[in-house]
Amino acid sequence: MIQGVVAIVGRANVGKSTIFNRIVGERVSIVEDIPGVTRDRIYANASWLTRDFRLIDTGGIELEDASFTEQIKMQAEIAIEEADVILFVVNGREGITREDAFVARMLQKSKKPIVLAVNKIDDQVYKDNIYDFYNLGVGDPIAVSGSHGIGIGDILDQIIHLMPESEDHREEDEIRFSIIGRPNVGKSSLTNALLGEERVIVSDIEGTTRDAIDTAFEKDGQKYRVIDTAGMRKKGKVYENIEKYSILRALSAVEKSDVVLVVIDGERGVVEQDKHVAGNAHEAGRGVILVVNKWDLVQKDGKTMQKMEKELREQFKYLDYAPIVFTSAKEKKRIDLLFPLIQEVYANNRKRVTTSVLNDVLIDAQAMNPTTTFNGGRLKIYYVNQVSVCPPTFVLFTNDPMYLHFSYKRYLENRLREAFGFEGTPIHIIARKRD
Ligand code: GDP
Ligand code: GDP
Repeated sequence: MIQGVVAIVGRANVGKSTIFNRIVGERVSIVEDIPGVTRDRIYANASWLTRDFRLIDTGGIELEDASFTEQIKMQAEIAIEEADVILFVVNGREGITREDAFVARMLQKSKKPIVLAVNKIDDQVYKDNIYDFYNLGVGDPIAVSGSHGIGIGDILDQIIHLMPESEDHREEDEIRFSIIGRPNVGKSSLTNALLGEERVIVSDIEGTTRDAIDTAFEKDGQKYRVIDTAGMRKKGKVYENIEKYSILRALSAVEKSDVVLVVIDGERGVVEQDKHVAGNAHEAGRGVILVVNKWDLVQKDGKTMQKMEKELREQFKYLDYAPIVFTSAKEKKRIDLLFPLIQEVYANNRKRVTTSVLNDVLIDAQAMNPTTTFNGGRLKIYYVNQVSVCPPTFVLFTNDPMYLHFSYKRYLENRLREAFGFEGTPIHIIARKRD
């Protein structure tokens, strides 16, 4: 579980991405490759001394047609907004520049914990260069060399030291969900409709400020919490339209959620950005519901819904388990369908099945469709265990996982779904060698 967020800031070419790569190293976990979801390396999960955190390289978030100063101001603001600890990188070969001083002042004002990395100290002879950087007034400079991997452990120690203890005020039996999607698809309107009152202010202008925070409420005896994705907009900053940033925000909302409502504009259909958003929800192992909103604006004949459904299934192949709901937040149509669905998907995401029944299903599945030779051998599955929930994860104990063809894995997944009904949740199947 992610316990904190660390954001790297600093002007261009000081070595942010080099340090990012050093910290993340080989530890980037890519669960599955989803076609259509490009992997921007601006964020990754990393860990150090049993603490897991997300690392963001704000240098990868760019404003088009902006001056260096505007660019770095935006990056520093995002870092301040998102991070628990800020890793401020400067170039130890160049001394303090005007931009360094500018960033330092912004960070100081934010009162966020700062780790100051003086980079490009590749050699002991430059070691004394770091003292100059005390003048930035953001704490003790640490000498590092991103390209040689020197001092990285020191900055990580310092980061962990400054990271606040994670506090999770999670209430028992509370279902947390988030509503994600590109700007203007109707996320705020849906939130309002679900809450049943105008607690979230809706605006007609794309990306405008509105007031939204995580909202806890109760409906028919069930506790819910809707996770805010509006984030920085509440402070009047208009960064939601920077695609990479909005993806990042959606990602943190997804992480805090049990169930994610991925909203698509029914009038416009699926666009590329929808796939990023949905792909993140899938990868995080959360329950997913596809909501096609603004359905009131769509010219319909008898087949429109099926057509849209077909399009969605094609565009989101990996989300074939996700239920689809057609709503109008504006006219409050089919909004009430969402609550029972959220409950069901939540339950499925944390469902545990009994080992004996699970193994019966496996035996039947193999009898009906025996494994064939693949990668020079034929798979034997001895037994299966459910090892975790959220999402349900199954381990197959086999003669050799190499022999498991992805289509057979797919087949087993479908059998499990038929037997146990995992609607709305991804499930993971992992093959291991039985010792
Ligand atoms: P960013 O723009 O801040 O992300 O900087 P990069 O990580 O892309 O690095 C900019 C340049 O500085 C690249 O040519 C890197 O190879 C180089 N660089 C990064 N770290 C070091 C370092 O520790 N020592 C030296 N000598 N060069 C470095
Ligand atoms: P967000 O940026 O995703 O939070 O989108 P908003 O909730 O702010 O909605 C953007 C615009 O779409 C506003 O003008 C809403 O009134 C409008 N809108 C939202 N949902 C619907 C809907 O179901 N039908 C129609 N016709 N308009 C909607």
